[in-house]
Amino acid sequence: MAAYQCPVCDYVYDEASGAPREGFPAGTSWADVPDGWCCPDCGVREKIDFDPKVA
Ligand SMILES: [Zn+2]
Repeated sequence: MAAYQCPVCDYVYDEASGAPREGFPAGTSWADVPDGWCCPDCGVREKIDFDPKVA
């Protein structure tokens, strides 16, 4: 599973844990997150702006 980080606020979307409050259950792959989904913390950046998080 991969994780993706918002370039603005450091919010991380982790596929393993999903984002239940956003309607994405644990295990939801990044590919299944809509392209127009905005960062839930800052709302400034959309999915396409997120960077793959390097562990
Ligand atoms: Zn953000």
